[in-house]
Amino acid sequence: MEQQIHMEYAATKKEKPNAADLQFGRVFTDHMFIMDYTEGKGWYDPRIIPYQPLSLDPAAIVFHYGQTVFEGLKAYVTKEGEARLFRPEKNMERLNRSNDRMCIPRLDETFALSAIKKLVGVDKDWIPTAPGTSLYIRPFVISTEPYLGVAPSKQYQFIVILSPVGAYYKEGINPVKIAVENEFVRAVKGGTGEAKTAGNYASSLKAQELVADKGYAQVLWLDGLEKKYIEEVGSMNVFFKIDGEVVTPALNGSILKGVTRNSVIKLLKHWGIPVTERRISMEEIHQAHLAGKLEEAFGAGTAAVISPIGELAWNENQMIVNDGVTGKIAKQLYDTLTGIQYGTEEDIFDWIV
Ligand code: PMP
Repeated sequence: MEQQIHMEYAATKKEKPNAADLQFGRVFTDHMFIMDYTEGKGWYDPRIIPYQPLSLDPAAIVFHYGQTVFEGLKAYVTKEGEARLFRPEKNMERLNRSNDRMCIPRLDETFALSAIKKLVGVDKDWIPTAPGTSLYIRPFVISTEPYLGVAPSKQYQFIVILSPVGAYYKEGINPVKIAVENEFVRAVKGGTGEAKTAGNYASSLKAQELVADKGYAQVLWLDGLEKKYIEEVGSMNVFFKIDGEVVTPALNGSILKGVTRNSVIKLLKHWGIPVTERRISMEEIHQAHLAGKLEEAFGAGTAAVISPIGELAWNENQMIVNDGVTGKIAKQLYDTLTGIQYGTEEDIFDWIV
């Protein structure tokens, strides 16, 4: 039996930001969803309440051992005022896979999605309408049991918050400079790379900070064992076009299974463009570049959708990709994916909810 979501409306509404001032993840809507878990009782008391701070015991496990997972997806509004989600069931699926890895009890995916839909409905007037803007949805689970022993928590909260976000590209889709990371790694085989859990992001900050000082937008992560094979770019999956074929690292347990990645592969196959998921070494990319066969490189993720790579720095090699401009495939993928999201392109795969 599906649980009833209790509603408590905010007595006062916050002022909404101007579309021009919107950034990423700085402003939050009037309401939030929250639900509790206690061992033996399961998930209970789903409710939508005014957006507010949490009150947690300082000994809550999440603060000490990071037993927590999150997701990220967006709601878009069409010209006709219809709110849309892009493949949200994929995010719910991944949330549970992350839960499994972090010893967090599973959520009912259908119910979690219905809670998200209801929350977005309640705060629908927070979905910005300017081109490229959207409402970012952040579902997450925290371990709340006050206990300093290293063990899975017996209590959790599942929370969803919403944040109106600005257009990722203010002046059109733009290539970025990327530095290949040779010292730090994001994830290792057998680690938590495939889970969307806080520690992966905390441990990525150092490398990001060091390359940002040298003018790079992100790092390209290599495998944690030999530092030879390509994994991801920043917090995006990565694609290369070499001699007419698009390649992306195969999912190996340390790479996040991106929803955009999956959508890109489906679109390329639909267009008849050869696409292969396999192991790709940095040496192979360098050789392809020397041979003039590295035609495009781009990242793929919810935030930017497609982020072209214009320059790739690896040791002493500075590789300029496609003369530093956005490639044809990257542009076509960006236009099609955003077109489907905003309702200006036909939703041929039934991705929109
Ligand atoms: N890799 C990492 C590490 C990420 O955090 C994300 C963002 N969720 C992605 C890839 C891209 O995934 P998605 O397309 O589902 O946003």
